[in-house]
Amino acid sequence: MAHVPDIAAPALDIDKIRKDFPLLQEKVYGKPLVYLDNSATTQKPQVVLDTLERYYKQYNSNVHRGVHHLSQVASEEYEAARHIIAAFINAREHEEVIFTKGTTDSINLIANVFGRGVIKAGDEVIVSAMEHHSNIVPWQIMCEDRGAVLKVIPMDENGELIMSEYAALLSDKTKIVSVAYVSNSLGTVNPVREIIALAHARNIPVMLDAAQAIQHMPLDVQELDVDFVAFSGHKIYGPTGIGILYGKREWLDKLPPYQGGGDMIKTVTFAKTTYNVLPFKYEAGTPDISGAIALGAAVKYVQEIGLENIHAYEEQLVNYAVAQLSKVEGLRFIGNPKHRSGAVSFLVDTIHPYDLGELLDKQGVAIRTGHHCAEPVMDFFCIPGTVRASFAMYTNKEDIDRLVVAINKAAAMLR
Ligand code: PMP
Repeated sequence: MAHVPDIAAPALDIDKIRKDFPLLQEKVYGKPLVYLDNSATTQKPQVVLDTLERYYKQYNSNVHRGVHHLSQVASEEYEAARHIIAAFINAREHEEVIFTKGTTDSINLIANVFGRGVIKAGDEVIVSAMEHHSNIVPWQIMCEDRGAVLKVIPMDENGELIMSEYAALLSDKTKIVSVAYVSNSLGTVNPVREIIALAHARNIPVMLDAAQAIQHMPLDVQELDVDFVAFSGHKIYGPTGIGILYGKREWLDKLPPYQGGGDMIKTVTFAKTTYNVLPFKYEAGTPDISGAIALGAAVKYVQEIGLENIHAYEEQLVNYAVAQLSKVEGLRFIGNPKHRSGAVSFLVDTIHPYDLGELLDKQGVAIRTGHHCAEPVMDFFCIPGTVRASFAMYTNKEDIDRLVVAINKAAAMLR
């Protein structure tokens, strides 16, 4: 029988953290909620909800446009949030932090401007076999437009990238590499330092899709020396509709603008328009002001708890989940990476993941079923989808124990 590690969280008071999240106190079908769909989106702490409400009740106004008091307060809070996020990822300059709608928007932005600014026919772009559709399709669209070629780093049966194949793919034709830091469908933590080092040895920039990393582990853009990073606010306890693109100034200064509109211009005439400096060059139109400010509040909340502490706790939690799930009869993991974070994907016997998901839901256990926007991963494993349980800093041992009980009960009914 698998050894089940215990979970110690000396640095975190999980019970206290849980009380900060109103939705975790809710019941589903009369049962206490077990929320294990955190890779899809995380719940929001009271401080984030309060920040949103305060903006709309006390200083709702447009940013960077008005001389009046409310607009000044809104602009200050919006820019303060940018500073918080810049410090959180250790950006050299806060101007390298662009507010977007989320990971998808950030990747589309870079694929678009990199395509228009750099890519020529015959050039190559590298992604990996375990990408979310958000880190595949924008590059496909761009490659089709530019006559470029999309190359894919293959993975093995454990759900780990085959690094020798990656090294072999890099060539003078490669213009950019874009990979997930952590896979949303398998939980694999990719060797991003090695991926970046190999690309940089050939002067190739690297973009990281950090949608499933930013909430689970410290990410220092200068230490990684990464060129672009994308993440979503809603996966790190912030609101939906807001996200971040980090880009090195040397790249963002020279790449062309993305969307045209208010705020991104310096001067406009019908003959010629000149563009604003960073970060405004990439923030056309009225941004999600309340979302940006509330994302700042979410990041501050995470910083107060400490991402190192969260990381250490969640590592134990994932090990505990893997050990407990291993005891479920007929359960097989999809992906067995050595280094895993945030999520566990599995199937039980020949039970369709959707059927299992429905019966778990009736027991108050929220998990995700399906292809998790990673159809190529499902094709690789020749499966229609998986059941995915994904974790956050407020997940506790009881959540996992209740998941295991619920799976056993559901599987007994479905067999
Ligand atoms: N990449 C990964 C790895 C993700 O997990 C997700 C969200 N599931 C995305 C990109 C897209 O994020 P969003 O929908 O917030 O833009």
